Amino acid sequence: MVLEVIIGPMFSGKTTELIRLIEREVFAKKKGAIFKPSLDRRYSEKEVVTHNGLRYKAYQVLPSRGGVRRLEKIATEKGIDAVGVDEIQFFPEELVEVLDRLSFTKKVIACGLNLSFRAEPFRTTMELTVRADKVTYLSAVCVRCGREATRTQRLISGKPAPKDSPLFVVGGKELYEPRCRLCYEPPK
Ligand code: ADP
Ligand code: MG
Ligand code: ZN
Repeated sequence: MVLEVIIGPMFSGKTTELIRLIEREVFAKKKGAIFKPSLDRRYSEKEVVTHNGLRYKAYQVLPSRGGVRRLEKIATEKGIDAVGVDEIQFFPEELVEVLDRLSFTKKVIACGLNLSFRAEPFRTTMELTVRADKVTYLSAVCVRCGREATRTQRLISGKPAPKDSPLFVVGGKELYEPRCRLCYEPPK
């Protein structure tokens, strides 16, 4: 019945908010489920885990067209009322039409990164954001100055990763820092 999107940089609390919203649906006697792309093995295989250690069970699906179809199949066949999807930026654009379709009969809450380490928008996030009925834009705390962080800096031995390094590299605090517009250093 609704498509909600939660976006922001790393450490902004997207996964925490997703868990809170899905748990809330479950308290309301609805059937809730969280899906996540299977390449994200940072902390756990069958759970989403937040940076401060909160966990919630999750279906893992491949970030491919097949994985997106599998998500739709599970959500439909299991009669899920509230569908949460984490890390939407990893999925191909087919996710957009599937979540759009599911949101006619279900509450869909999709969350993911706003910008890449190059501070460029992620296609899937962008497409879902503008189709959403509700958008929550979260910020983290800039590690440099304490202002609102809206960007994610990728670091290699403490220095900004070069522009030509791969778009998707899974990592945590050792690799990424939330930074504000002023402290963010554009990769060269
Ligand atoms: P996201 O899914 O957006 O990456 P999480 O929900 O996993 O974020 O984690 C959010 C948590 O990260 C915060 O509640 C806080 O405990 C922790 N955290 C660590 N560093 C920061 C930071 N610089 N700014 C905000 N929260 C941070
Ligand atoms: Mg997260
Ligand atoms: Zn700053």
